[in-house]
Amino acid sequence: MARLTQTQLNRLSKNFEERTPDEMLRWAKDIFGDRVAAISAMQKSGSVMCHMISRLELDIPVLFVDTGVMFQETLETRDRISRDYGLTVRTLHPELTMVEQTEKMGVLYMSVEGQEECCHMRKVEPLLKTKGDYDALIGSLRRADGGRRGVCPLLAVDIEMNTVRINPMANFTDEQMAAYLAEQDVIINPLHDQGYTTIGCNRCTTPVLPHEPKRAGRWRHLGTAAAYCGINPTDMSDGESEAIDLPQDLVDRILGQKTDFMI
Ligand code: SF4
Repeated sequence: MARLTQTQLNRLSKNFEERTPDEMLRWAKDIFGDRVAAISAMQKSGSVMCHMISRLELDIPVLFVDTGVMFQETLETRDRISRDYGLTVRTLHPELTMVEQTEKMGVLYMSVEGQEECCHMRKVEPLLKTKGDYDALIGSLRRADGGRRGVCPLLAVDIEMNTVRINPMANFTDEQMAAYLAEQDVIINPLHDQGYTTIGCNRCTTPVLPHEPKRAGRWRHLGTAAAYCGINPTDMSDGESEAIDLPQDLVDRILGQKTDFMI
């Protein structure tokens, strides 16, 4: 095994800043093969990412965390994307149903501390159960979404999952997103047309008003105390001094030291 540090990935990311999402996705498949998966919450940017994976015929599975309290529209979007795009969608579930959790621990999501615990049990832990299955996870984070995502890296280490996190759409602007949606027949969660700019669990997501920030509808009942669920580690930490362990030949391929792979 060999160490792969965030500092090494930062250097690589700089070289990739001009790459398109298509190029980044092809790179991910070429480098990680069957050991890469995408993760989507079936929001707009995740749908665009799924469309790209399908259009490029990359045969990359998609992970979807069903917290048990998702909007019906989100579940239907997942099913349509799986069927119409021919993608393998692997749905992950928490250990407890929301009823079991509430009986045991009360209504967690109504307090700041409880929200962290609830998101960890219902979102982070189901993903952690896949640890070891993949060396890389592709997400659909975009800098244009602002907040902590305003600086999200193209490549990051995920210590808890021991994977590389790849954000091929980090540089995808709102204008590029609008153009892609206009040109391609992308399946979009219908809640986006009902004022929901971002979409999570039905307990903790509301529509937003036109003058509000995009993420104002997430955990609105908790004020400004909560903004992210923790399933994307770069939302929670700058990761500067972090590292993961991967096979030596894979680390060499990622860093371009034993391959003539060129985009
Ligand atoms: S978004 Fe709300 S209901 Fe969903 S896991 Fe987090 S705290 Fe729980």
